[in-house]
Amino acid sequence: MLWQAAGILFANLILVGCQAEQGTPHEEAAFFADACEGLPRKENAALPLSTASDDWFQVYETAEGVYSIVESYQVEESISHLIVGDERAILFDTGIGLLPIRPVVERITDRPVTVLNSHSHFDHVGGNAEFSSILAIDSDYTRANMAGFDHRRIATDFAPEAFCIPPPSGFDLGLIHTRPWKASRYIEDGEILDLGGRRLEVLHVPGHAPDATALLDAENGLLFTGDTFYAAELWLVVPETNLDEYDRAITRLANIEKDVKYLLGAHASARVDSGRLTRVRDAFHKLRSGDYPGTEDGGRLVFTIDDIEFVTAQPVLDGKQGDITKGGSGLDTWD
Ligand SMILES: [Zn+2]
Repeated sequence: MLWQAAGILFANLILVGCQAEQGTPHEEAAFFADACEGLPRKENAALPLSTASDDWFQVYETAEGVYSIVESYQVEESISHLIVGDERAILFDTGIGLLPIRPVVERITDRPVTVLNSHSHFDHVGGNAEFSSILAIDSDYTRANMAGFDHRRIATDFAPEAFCIPPPSGFDLGLIHTRPWKASRYIEDGEILDLGGRRLEVLHVPGHAPDATALLDAENGLLFTGDTFYAAELWLVVPETNLDEYDRAITRLANIEKDVKYLLGAHASARVDSGRLTRVRDAFHKLRSGDYPGTEDGGRLVFTIDDIEFVTAQPVLDGKQGDITKGGSGLDTWD
């Protein structure tokens, strides 16, 4: 039923896409609306759909005890992964914050849930305020982002064209903001989170953002990669992105991937086979060699190298970095 309903709505959407192309400044969102017909992505559609799903959140059973909560119909296609152990669970990201994610989590597990974010950009911390147990990387950047993001900083992602289905009713999209949240405990690289019968290793992998974090479930062959890798165009564009750090991050994760079966990123496809990190690392090194031309797109530079797409900006390529102590929403620009 869910997909049927979505299919009917897609027809409207294509119309919205055309209008957006002609009239609004939200070109990316218009592009997204045009791409709505491809949703849900085939990698996701091939996974078992959990009964915990609803009209907004699609929950896929990506591995034993792992539930990937996908917000397919908003431009970010954000994914939050709930990883359940015998005694407790980790919720790795909390979505864009338009609809509460906690009821979805409670439909899946009654074990105590602790939040950890793949990084503190707005599209991953939207539901943090719904939880009291939150682990975070101890950094000025993360602390600044705990104040939340006011509407102005995230407004483009809540414009009508940013949706593939009519946005849920009962919300004033002109007021949406990220609520403040607090860490209950700080964590460091290498820490093991014991969920009971399941151990997750915290990998602090700055680059995309200063607090970028991955999680390794070695025993089950799962690597949760956050925004360091997901199976779509990789964004390395905002002022807090650091390409030297990203180089170390993608190299570190690529070195691990031979030992895992699946990669679970924070956007687009909930689960893909391992093997792609090595290709991303190699393509990224080619990008940095300067031998490959990028395409200018509204102040951004897009590189497609060996089928890997990177979206970056000249200041990032030049090694500049904004003031990371001020945080960053993930949508802030260099201007
Ligand atoms: Zn993201």
